[in-house]
Amino acid sequence: MKTYQRKILIKLYEIIFDLCMGYGIVFGSSVAAYIRRSKAKRKYYSEYENQDCPEDDEYFSEMFSKETVDRLELTDDIDCYLGYLPDWTSFEKKLRKYFKQNYIPISFHVKKGEEKEVLRYTKQVKTVVFRSDTSFFIGEVFEVKVDFVFDEKENQMYPPFKICDAECNALYMKKSEESFKIFLSKNTGIIDIDILCCVENEEKKMKIIEDVLKRETKYFSILSRMGFSRFNSRHNNPMGDEMIELRKRNCKRFFKLVNRGYKITNFENIFKIGIVEECCLICHESSTTNSFSVQCCKPEQGNTVICLPCFEQLFDSNLDERISPPCPQCRTHFEFL
Ligand SMILES: [Zn+2]
Ligand SMILES: [Zn+2]
Repeated sequence: MKTYQRKILIKLYEIIFDLCMGYGIVFGSSVAAYIRRSKAKRKYYSEYENQDCPEDDEYFSEMFSKETVDRLELTDDIDCYLGYLPDWTSFEKKLRKYFKQNYIPISFHVKKGEEKEVLRYTKQVKTVVFRSDTSFFIGEVFEVKVDFVFDEKENQMYPPFKICDAECNALYMKKSEESFKIFLSKNTGIIDIDILCCVENEEKKMKIIEDVLKRETKYFSILSRMGFSRFNSRHNNPMGDEMIELRKRNCKRFFKLVNRGYKITNFENIFKIGIVEECCLICHESSTTNSFSVQCCKPEQGNTVICLPCFEQLFDSNLDERISPPCPQCRTHFEFL
């Protein structure tokens, strides 16, 4: 990503966060990115400037040196959750005003009124796609997608996903007074976070934040969480269409995490992710990026390596099946997703 694109994105984040925090919450990968950027910033101030870190509301100031900016991580999509349906016209006006005030040569279009039934939890999703001004940036375009989710139900759940797929996605961010605060959702489906008391919840949050900084997380498999095994999914309790949809969505999110360089700590007895010298079992290419070292095969068969694209494809082509795909070598089913 080029420096000017980063600058614009950082500014855009500031606007979006500011707009949404006043109205609701931000969740998903942009929260983890925010945590890591805050850390990079503190590191910058303690190492390079020998001064105290300014408050978070100055976070997006353009005081960064180039090397610090290069260390920053930006997501190209932002998920926002609003507990009510705002007056969209005034919301849009506010957005446009912000852009004008900040002299940002960026345009956006809004996809409105799209309604989605997401796993028995009705949401209205509006997507705003921001585009850089092509004429200003010598014909180059980049896009940031902002999803606004409106939930007009009472007893709102924070964050809005019913079932949490990974610990790092259980965090959400809210603007409280002048700074951004990170919270851990207490209602994420059926994982241990749901039953934690306040103190435990706070401890768990700190641990998850620590892991996010190390780019580590725990992934919650749908199959294991729902008590699905290969046996009962075949015989007693076949996976329904809804379950298959849910699993497809979670598999996509799993690979998104892995592609972002996350280490999945609770699956290390099933696979390890890292750069390995061995060739991929499927495409026989030796990859310079991360690969899975699969632990299912017997050690005498050697280190079984499947590159990330092949592993993803293996799952992708099996997602309509009611059981997980088998290891191409030992035929053990990968039941972690
Ligand atoms: Zn491969
Ligand atoms: Zn195997």
